[in-house]
Amino acid sequence: MRNALILLAGGSGKRMNSLIPKQFLKIGNTNLIDYFLNNLDINLFDIIVIAVKNDHKKKYLKFIKKKFSHLNIHYSTSGETRQITTKKALEFLRKYTPINVLIHDSARPLVSNSLIKKITKSLEKNFSCIPFVSYSDYIKYKKNIIINNNEIMNIQTPQGFNFKKIYKAHMLSKSNKSKDDSSIFELIGEKSNMIIGEKTNLKITTKEDIKYFKNIRTKDYRSGIGYDIHKIDFNSKKKLILCGVTIPNYPPLIGHSDADVGYHAVCDSIFGSLSMNDIGNHFSDKNKKWKNANSKIFINYCAKKLIERGYKIVNLDINFICEKPNINKLSHLMKKNLSSNLKITTGRISIKATTNEKIGLIGKGEGIAAESIVQIVNV
Ligand code: ZN
Repeated sequence: MRNALILLAGGSGKRMNSLIPKQFLKIGNTNLIDYFLNNLDINLFDIIVIAVKNDHKKKYLKFIKKKFSHLNIHYSTSGETRQITTKKALEFLRKYTPINVLIHDSARPLVSNSLIKKITKSLEKNFSCIPFVSYSDYIKYKKNIIINNNEIMNIQTPQGFNFKKIYKAHMLSKSNKSKDDSSIFELIGEKSNMIIGEKTNLKITTKEDIKYFKNIRTKDYRSGIGYDIHKIDFNSKKKLILCGVTIPNYPPLIGHSDADVGYHAVCDSIFGSLSMNDIGNHFSDKNKKWKNANSKIFINYCAKKLIERGYKIVNLDINFICEKPNINKLSHLMKKNLSSNLKITTGRISIKATTNEKIGLIGKGEGIAAESIVQIVNV
């Protein structure tokens, strides 16, 4: 086995005034560990060991092995300090006989694959590879003693080592409170091989860092498509409803619910964008509960699902296919409804219509169809 990764997730850091340790905090549709693994090049490591407290593993990482089944993920139990946690993970890894190991803090999810590759490449010729960055800000001690930037290195992770060497260093170390593996490595008389890291590889510690993370992370854009068609009921005394707008002087559509073909297409596009099947799965037309139901209920449910899964709508484009009524005259009312139900501005909604050139059921004026495309993005 060549390259192993230890991902340190044992911290219970509560600096962000949250009861949940930062590496498990839900940020939109992700957390720091999920984000890191999601963006990790699958060819970089033969084995990944996540060092974590047992109860945290059960509580926050249940989905990880299944979601990332393409990565060879194992767990080791964390200890009282960072150093003990790393030592235990190294002990766990020993039976897999990796040649090199990279040790990484789960609080640095923004590290690029290219930096990781640089480190593993460097380990082909060196026993260690430690990334660092330097800042050009003017630095002062609080007591006003000026110090020189050139003499300061901000050490990052992942730190790469020859497995046998770092294992030996950890076994020989007499302290257990070191927060940096390169310092432990140097204790056995080895010199750390330093390379330039990445300023974007920030250690996420404060609420401000979370804001930064949200700004520079890879965005997760998704799209969904929806289509619906209903026949017109010429014998009914009820009125036509499209996107929640009641339209007088037009016969209604036939359906189990209020047959709002516009809302149904929009719902299906949102369900599609979230990979949640279609509207019939959530609101079956066999269920009496939805008989004559106001389709606003369905739209509101979709809005709730978007929030729950950590997404917001970028834009929504709806197209009606019908001979009558004149959709253009009604679109501002429809947009107003959608805007208030989906909590988006009307500027993000487009509603247009086309006729079916007198062809088929719609062309003969016997039915109305609607299609919708939505784009969503993680918040
Ligand atoms: Zn429908």
